[in-house]
Amino acid sequence: MTLATSPQTTAATCEKLKCKECGAEYELQAKHVCEECFGPLEVVYNYDTLRRTVTRESIQKGPNSIWRYRPFLPVLTENVIDVGTGMTPLVQANRLARRLGLKKLYIKNDAVNMPTLSFKDRVVSVALSRARELGFSTVSCASTGNLANSTAAIAAHAGLDCCVFIPADLEAGKVLGTLIYNPTVMAVEGNYDQVNRLCCEVANTHGWGFVNINLRPYYSEGSKTLGFEVAEQLGWQLPDHIVAPLASGSLFTKIYKGFQEFVKVGLVDEKAVRFSGAQADGCSPIAQAFKEERDFVTPVKPNTIAKSIAIGNPADGIYALEIARKTNGNIESVNDAEIIEGIKLLAETEGIFTETAGGTTIAVLKKLVEAGKIDPEETTVAYITGNGLKTQEAVQGYIGEPLTIEPKLDSFERALERSRTLDRLEWQQVLV
Ligand SMILES: *Cc1c(COP(=O)(O)O)cnc(C)c1O
Repeated sequence: MTLATSPQTTAATCEKLKCKECGAEYELQAKHVCEECFGPLEVVYNYDTLRRTVTRESIQKGPNSIWRYRPFLPVLTENVIDVGTGMTPLVQANRLARRLGLKKLYIKNDAVNMPTLSFKDRVVSVALSRARELGFSTVSCASTGNLANSTAAIAAHAGLDCCVFIPADLEAGKVLGTLIYNPTVMAVEGNYDQVNRLCCEVANTHGWGFVNINLRPYYSEGSKTLGFEVAEQLGWQLPDHIVAPLASGSLFTKIYKGFQEFVKVGLVDEKAVRFSGAQADGCSPIAQAFKEERDFVTPVKPNTIAKSIAIGNPADGIYALEIARKTNGNIESVNDAEIIEGIKLLAETEGIFTETAGGTTIAVLKKLVEAGKIDPEETTVAYITGNGLKTQEAVQGYIGEPLTIEPKLDSFERALERSRTLDRLEWQQVLV
C-alpha cells in the first residue's frame, strides 16, 4: 500500500487515487480497480489547499465552462480541453411546477450542453484532458449512445484517434451523431453490458484510454460539475431535493460528492439535500433493490425505450442506493408510456425537448410528488441530461401532425377552424 508520487505542477490539487472500499492508495495513473480488493478507485484532493486558494470570486472569474472548477477536477496541468462544456442553464420551471403541485422547481438543462447535447460532454472533457496528460493517443469507450457522441466529438477536437463501441440496436440519431466525427465505430451485436465486458478485454490487450473503464476515476469526476453549477446558480446554496436519472449510478453519486466538496471547503453552507433517482421499469435494478431494501443490486437484462440509461449491471449501483437511503430520498421507476408522457410534459410546459432519460426523470418526479415523497415547499432540481432530437423515434406516433394547407388564405382559415373544433372536441372528451 505504498503511495508512489507523480510529477505535479503547483497548480494541481488532486493527489492520488484511493480505493472506495479498502482505502488503498495509488498514484494518478490509468487504473480503475483496486489490486487489493477489486473496489473502485476515486480521486482524492488536498482539501486544505482548496480551502485556502479557492473562493467564490476566483471561480466566477474563471471560464464560462466546467473548467471554472478546475481545482476540483483531476488534471495536473492547465492545458485542458475546453470546448465550452458546462454552465448550462438552470431554469426556474414555474409552469411545470404548477402542473405538478410544486412551488420551487428548477430544471438543470444539459439537453443543451456542448458540444453534443448531453451531460456526457462533462465527463468526456475531463477524461480526455487527463488521457492527453497520461500520453494516450487513442481513446475509446463502451457507450449507450451519448458517450459515443461525446467521445468522438471531443477526440476530433483534440486530434486523438478514436474507436467507440455501441450496442448495434441504438437509435439512428445517436449512431449518426457519432459517425459524423469519423471515428471507428464498433456496433456490437449485444446489449450494453456485453459491450462493456468486451471493452474491458480490449482495454487489457490494447494500450487505449477507455474513458469509462481504465480512465473511469477521472471521467466520473466530471459529473461533480453538475453539483457545483447548481450550487453556484442557486446563489451559492444547495437545493433541498434533487432528482436525477440512474444508469451506472455514477452521475448520481458524483452530484453528491460535488455538493459535499463545496461544503467541505466553505463555498456553501451545509444542508441536508435529499437525493432521488430515476430508472425505467425495463431496466431498474437499482430501483428494485431500493424497494426490496436490499444492499446489493441484482443485474437485469434491459428492455426499455430509455436506451441511454439501460445498464443492467450498474457499476455504482450500491453507492447510489446508499446515498438515496442516507439522504432520505427515493429511487423509483416508470414504464415506457410514462416516459413518453414525461418527455411531452416537459416540452409543453417548459419548451425543453429531452430524450428518453429526461422523460424518465420527469415521470419519476411526477410519481414522487403524487406519492407525497417530495414536499411542495422543497426547492427541487430535476436534472435533464440529454436532448430529444437524438431519440425522435421514441415519440413518433405520440405527437400531433402538421396541418397541410394550400398557399391560400381561405385554406389557412378553414384549417384553423378545423383545428379549433378538434381542440374543443378534445376538451369535451377530457370533461366527460
Ligand atoms: C449516461 C447517461 C446518464 C447516466 O449516467 P450514469 O453516470 O452512468 O448513471 C443519464 N442520462 C443520459 C442522457 C446519459 O447519457
